[in-house]
Amino acid sequence: MMEGSEKRLVVVSNRLPIVIGQEEEQWTITPGSGGLVTALTPLMKSSRGMWIGWPGCGEEAPLQELFDDFGREQGYRLGAVPLSEEEVERYYQGFSNEALWPLFHGLLGFCRFSLENWQTYREVNRRFAEVVAAESPPGSDDVIWVHDYQLALVGAGLRELGADQALGFFLHIPFPSLDLYRRLPWKTEILRALLEYDLIGFQTLRYWRNFVQCVTALVPGVEVLARQRNQTLLNVGGRQVKVGHFPISIDFNEFHQEAQSRNVAEAAWYLHENLEGRQLVLGVDRLDYTKGIPERFLAFERALEKYPDLRQKVSLVQVVVPSRTLVPDYQNLKELLDQTAGRINARFAESGWMPIHYLFRSLDRTQLLAHYRTSEIALITPLRDGMNLVAKEYCAASVDHNGVLVLSEFAGAADQLGRGALLVNPYDIDGTADAIYRAFSMEPEERRRRMEQLQGQVRRNDVHRWMRRFLDTLGGRRPRD
Ligand code: UDP
Repeated sequence: MMEGSEKRLVVVSNRLPIVIGQEEEQWTITPGSGGLVTALTPLMKSSRGMWIGWPGCGEEAPLQELFDDFGREQGYRLGAVPLSEEEVERYYQGFSNEALWPLFHGLLGFCRFSLENWQTYREVNRRFAEVVAAESPPGSDDVIWVHDYQLALVGAGLRELGADQALGFFLHIPFPSLDLYRRLPWKTEILRALLEYDLIGFQTLRYWRNFVQCVTALVPGVEVLARQRNQTLLNVGGRQVKVGHFPISIDFNEFHQEAQSRNVAEAAWYLHENLEGRQLVLGVDRLDYTKGIPERFLAFERALEKYPDLRQKVSLVQVVVPSRTLVPDYQNLKELLDQTAGRINARFAESGWMPIHYLFRSLDRTQLLAHYRTSEIALITPLRDGMNLVAKEYCAASVDHNGVLVLSEFAGAADQLGRGALLVNPYDIDGTADAIYRAFSMEPEERRRRMEQLQGQVRRNDVHRWMRRFLDTLGGRRPRD
């Protein structure tokens, strides 16, 4: 463990983990939810840490007042990087989500490389570095942990401002192969910037190897000093840089216990009552073309076609959480989903049975857990995914041990869950249909054995362990030259 509380943890992410709202003229600030916040909060409190990011709103809110309230209640401070609407459009929607996101997920066809967006990305990253440097000047005994693809250049910006603190970076999304990565017009600048961190962490072995391959091929003077089981030590112009894989996870106990609560049990019972003995196949995703939802609908259709005994006996419940709905590619995807679900339902529905229940909204926590707990099959088939936490949450919430996880081999989670899950290639519609049928027909004994295996894996490797491993590897301040 990092030498605990005396080193202050400074976390930097695109969005601050807060929701700012207004109730009857009164501004409110509430802490966000999610695994990262849960994992980091105890250490943020004990080290009197700081979280720096974009607050997600314009200048109209009385930020300083709200942040002071937050600091008193939560035990750590917030720092804002304000962004104009135009900056959000170019840095976040433009470069981050229309260049890096599709490229890193291996979907080149969705990429838009715009010089203007790249320039704004650089400027905004520089601004983040300035805010961090003002809060954590060179010489301070802090550990600075930067998160995700929106902020690849922050470490380099900090070094330019003289930072000598330990700098870590974790990439939550995949890192592509050399062959794909080299299409990026600004490939070398981004790699050089990443090499300014002391530790660069990836979700899987493959993404870690891809990165090492890219830097050794594209950045002159980078040399591999040592290869260990979980990390590579690089020599970058006389400086040592660690690269490793740290699969992110969830708070297993929290999900497992909450799934057994009375509220969830009641909601789950109610869901099952409405099913009249059918098996439920569940999909839960943000609206995103990386999630493979149209392909999943087609695989479900193929299963109904190929295995007529599934008809009337299974329903697919697909929850799609609205996301990035201003981006045209996401609007097109939404239309495609509406059409495909409608077509399949029109083709197969019979009185009293609807093959696909398609919900375009988010579920509250009780409902989400009830869906996890009740569904006999989870169909999680992204075309590519950094990790996919829904897969891990499903396992933690399957308290009756009767759930079967059908998982894409291209989800980061497949590395850890591949033994207990039924792995599929989401592009193989017929093969995925076979896996659905196999899951449907699986005997209770095999379901239990596989689910116990999956739960053991997620329980051992929870998000707390992930955080400790990353910070332990990062260690303290780097030695001065
Ligand atoms: N989620 C949610 N409400 C919903 C559906 C999902 O809060 O109605 C959460 C879910 O619990 C999970 C996250 O959204 O923690 C999705 O994370 P994942 O890694 O699966 O995919 P991402 O959206 O980060 O690509």
